[in-house]
Amino acid sequence: MTTPRPDQPDRGTAARPAPRLIIDLGAIRRNYATLQSLAPTAHVGAVVKANGYGLAAAEVVPTLADAGCRCFYVAHTSEAREVREALGERPADIFVFNGFWPSELDELRTLSLFPVINDLGQLEALRQQAPDLPFALHFDTGMSRLGLDADETDALIADPTRLDGLHLRQIMSHLACADAPDHPLNARQQQRFDRIRRAFPAIPASLSNSAGTVLGPDYHYDVLRPGLALFGGMPPVGQPSPFEPVVSIEAPILQIRTLRAGDTVGYGASLTVDGPRRVATVAAGYADGLLRAFGNGGFGRIGEARVPILGRVSMDLICVDIDAVRAPLKPGDPVSFLGADIEDMAQSAATIPYEFLVRLGIRFDRDYRP
Ligand SMILES: *Cc1c(COP(=O)(O)O)cnc(C)c1O
Repeated sequence: MTTPRPDQPDRGTAARPAPRLIIDLGAIRRNYATLQSLAPTAHVGAVVKANGYGLAAAEVVPTLADAGCRCFYVAHTSEAREVREALGERPADIFVFNGFWPSELDELRTLSLFPVINDLGQLEALRQQAPDLPFALHFDTGMSRLGLDADETDALIADPTRLDGLHLRQIMSHLACADAPDHPLNARQQQRFDRIRRAFPAIPASLSNSAGTVLGPDYHYDVLRPGLALFGGMPPVGQPSPFEPVVSIEAPILQIRTLRAGDTVGYGASLTVDGPRRVATVAAGYADGLLRAFGNGGFGRIGEARVPILGRVSMDLICVDIDAVRAPLKPGDPVSFLGADIEDMAQSAATIPYEFLVRLGIRFDRDYRP
């Protein structure tokens, strides 16, 4: 029997040296409850497009349904199919943002999915081909992306008989600047949506995504459509986040070395150290969704200590500066990424958490914690 050196792992018992994606389903439930407490008179729906923001619809959808969610939104009908399967017997409406496409009619009917209609042509197609199919109407109040434009909105308000005999379940619009509370477009969109709602007073109305929810009660209406806040993103600008982190990556250290002044780190030798530096090479990279742009700016954590990423992120590996860590370290010890740092990490890479959440990759061992 050999005794492992203190700086080496016992390779007989050390954990598999692979990164793990840890998803805290309990935190998703608590974030759902937090949104509900922010908007007590509205129903909190959930946007679970892109496979539940990369976290797996099969896991997050039942979690949200069990927390009380009865209204789910996705972009594509194929995503809606996954949501319906994940729901099993749990009752919920599922809305498909990307419009009514008659070629999908059989699937919409079979799985009881509701298209979100984005123009009057789609409304006419629905009237002719599926007048019994419940649907939502999306009004464009200032984003110029999806939804009835201002002229179509006026035409429909002037002639609401176009909706006679149809099953309009929800009206909605989407805020362009909700993450900038002082942006004047927020109030303008809210006023435009108010006018639309007055034309359809009996129909449940939905305006706000995660950031819109925090703008206050004028923005709540009947149904909220948060995505990111459920999954731990979105601190209100300049305030501590009321939402709990949900996603973290834990990856083992593979090697530890001490660099000397003048040594370079990683591809392109983009970083040269100016003195002795302890560096750990960690088993996670951009193939696992840790963006290449996190290189030379992002950081991980060992315990509470921040360990800055040194040099470029490789496909499978990241180097971190472990000078700040007092505790002895050895290969196999975990380094964590994301968690409560996802907004800081996004800023370090000049992006938003949405972008890396949906790209977390398939290589992980996924650890869903109840
Ligand atoms: C993605 C999306 C949402 C959710 O946005 P978050 O910022 O993640 O809360 C809501 N509504 C629409 C139309 C969307 O496309």
